[in-house]
Amino acid sequence: MDRDELLQRITDAGVVGAGGGGFPAGVKLAGEFIHYIANGAECEPLLHKDIELMKHYPDVIANTMRIIGDTLAVDNIYFAAKEKYSQVWESINPSLEKNNIIPKYLEDIFPAGDEFDLVETVLGKVIPPANIPLTVQTAVNNVETIYNIGRALDDIPVTHKWLTVTGDVVRPFTAVVPIGTTAEYLLELARPKIKNYCIIEGGPMMGNLVQPDEPVKKTTSGFIVVAPEHPLITYRKMSIQYALRIAASVCMQCRACTDLCPRYLLGHPLEPHRIMRASAMPLSLPLNVMTAALLCSECGVCEQFACPMGLSPRKINAELKINFGEQGVKFQWNGDEIAPREEREFRRIPSQRLAERLGILDYINIHPEFIPSISAPERVIIRLKQHTGVPAEPIVKIGNKVEIGQEIARIPNGKDKLGANIHSSINGTITSIQPDIIIESGEE
Ligand code: SF4
Ligand code: SF4
Repeated sequence: MDRDELLQRITDAGVVGAGGGGFPAGVKLAGEFIHYIANGAECEPLLHKDIELMKHYPDVIANTMRIIGDTLAVDNIYFAAKEKYSQVWESINPSLEKNNIIPKYLEDIFPAGDEFDLVETVLGKVIPPANIPLTVQTAVNNVETIYNIGRALDDIPVTHKWLTVTGDVVRPFTAVVPIGTTAEYLLELARPKIKNYCIIEGGPMMGNLVQPDEPVKKTTSGFIVVAPEHPLITYRKMSIQYALRIAASVCMQCRACTDLCPRYLLGHPLEPHRIMRASAMPLSLPLNVMTAALLCSECGVCEQFACPMGLSPRKINAELKINFGEQGVKFQWNGDEIAPREEREFRRIPSQRLAERLGILDYINIHPEFIPSISAPERVIIRLKQHTGVPAEPIVKIGNKVEIGQEIARIPNGKDKLGANIHSSINGTITSIQPDIIIESGEE
């Protein structure tokens, strides 16, 4: 297989970043790089989907990495996961050795899996501000993305998602589920312990509040059930107006948000305490101090871990990013060499301390049961945009019968636009194509 065929198969199968990014994998791997890193850090507390995947499919992951490495002429291939995942290492080490892949044992800290953090840890190189790993000749893929690429090479498209359902539930589990399955369908299996609850899609640090009818997408890592009064929910429900108002009245400029910010510690010129001061008061600061909000990964450390006053620099940065994006304003990096700050070594956040601060100690030591496959729902809701780029265009009509794995929506204008093809995740009949494709098996 040559380079073009590899990339085409990945694109045809609709593979996108499965760790949450959703970037089309065929486009990412079309860049020039000499280092390739498998990201198995899974640093968001409570999620276990990558751990189960790495334990159960070590050969698929390692063999696929070797094929990618050979086909794309990569010099060095690394597999990175936390050292504490002893069962993963036991399972995958023979495959890594056979495929000449370098193991990288990561500390149990947050955010070990952030691409910028990971590249520095593995290669000792800092990705410059407002850049991507390709700038340092590196490509990073989440382990589930690599697993999906392995299946794409066997002409199997992306139809299912690995995820964890946990929190205040009777039966926390990790499972492989059809894309388009709703959160409420999965919660029937998990059985919430409380009557009134909120649902977070993703991890406790970076996940979003969703409604029970939220469907699983190619980027969904899990659903977490917590009580409405839990601090994880309070932060998420805070309006931007309220966040700005309390920033103006109680931010004491202690700088804890900056001192613990993972991007600041990497040497990036992001200083959330200065953005907080300028946002709360009419101060005139150099434009680059404010546009540095564009460097924020929205990891949540400043908001949910660092700030002693319960403020949310993350939310204010997120709002600034939207505003700057609408105005076409970009962060201008002056090209200076960037190096991690000395204090980074002792300011990184151990997962256990993070769990204590988040109020999730009750759930952190539970190991969710692994369910290889669940009985498929009779109805799936498949989003036309579940990836970076433009929405896919439906190629089916209402009333069409479709089979699992059949292509149902395609990147508009073929290769010209950034996007991803989408495939049916169950056998059934199309009952809607806009705004989402709905497939019902009961209609057959
Ligand atoms: S940690 Fe909180 S109080 Fe301290 S500077 Fe940052 S936002 Fe202000
Ligand atoms: S969310 Fe806060 S801690 Fe995380 S990168 Fe942004 S400013 Fe830094």
